[in-house]
Amino acid sequence: MFQGIGLPRFRVTQLIHWMYEKDVLGIDDITEFSRPLRETLKGLSYIGNLKILKKTESSDGTAKLLFGLDDGLSVEGVLIPDEYRLTLCVSSQVGCAMGCRFCLTASMGLTRNLRADEIAGQVTAVRRELQGQAEITNIVLMGMGEPLKNFGEVTKAIQIITQYMGISKRRITLSTAGVVPEMQRLYREMPEVNLAISLNATTDDVRSTLMPINNKYNIDTLLRACHRLPISPRRRLTIAYVLLKGINDTPEDARRLIAMLKGLKAKVNLIPFNEYEGARYEAPGEKAAIEFQQILIARHITAFIRKSKGLEIQAACGQLKTTHEQS
Ligand code: SF4
Repeated sequence: MFQGIGLPRFRVTQLIHWMYEKDVLGIDDITEFSRPLRETLKGLSYIGNLKILKKTESSDGTAKLLFGLDDGLSVEGVLIPDEYRLTLCVSSQVGCAMGCRFCLTASMGLTRNLRADEIAGQVTAVRRELQGQAEITNIVLMGMGEPLKNFGEVTKAIQIITQYMGISKRRITLSTAGVVPEMQRLYREMPEVNLAISLNATTDDVRSTLMPINNKYNIDTLLRACHRLPISPRRRLTIAYVLLKGINDTPEDARRLIAMLKGLKAKVNLIPFNEYEGARYEAPGEKAAIEFQQILIARHITAFIRKSKGLEIQAACGQLKTTHEQS
């Protein structure tokens, strides 16, 4: 990352172009710059190159990735192939301070925010790994961290990704636990970016147990904020709902969810909990998940059950990092 350099604006643009479009590994590779300028830059800064420290593939093609940062820390990502898409899930923070009780990343706490170049760098590292044999079509900010708690760097990273990597904002989805003020700010500043709200419960009692943020922005506050978002006619919010056996997966929950979503332009992503060792929750049975989905569909709510892509490599928040650190 280039820090504290008084470069003219056009030089900064050239730098970013070489870093993210041409994907150079070092300042010496920027042949557009004179040797003296390269030497000056090398004395002041460097190009950060995230390394993929570990890649674990599952039989369905999903790959869990561990990215090494320059300070020795690491974050995770997941590459998910689909029939028509290749989606990369990236992290926005090292760890997370939000404390969601079903999430392993939460148990790590927050170490630090990622810089914009480290967020965009995850995309660059995967593109390099793919060697042009496949193109990333979609980005989801659903890895480690709460993206809206790192608003400035996340939005800068989105600018870099959209401007220099050919991925439009409409193909980027940011997932939030429900940081209400920043949700509204995101819509003001980047209305094309898709927003996924992690709801996960239909009563405040249950949601406050699962997600401490509910004590600050409860379900009513969150839904009112969702209703106020200026969602364009052809767009919809995504409501993410992790199904936890016996906690939030009953038909009553499904019916309450229908009532809650009334009048909201939203689709629902049902995510059967991905169990991990020591988890305090269990995955719902397949029957319960399908019944939940059918109740929503019967009331004309678009609801998908996310397939268990990457189940055997435990492609859920934080798990690869923990495994790596223990080995
Ligand atoms: S679910 Fe997301 S917001 Fe909640 S603790 Fe995990 S990473 Fe943070």
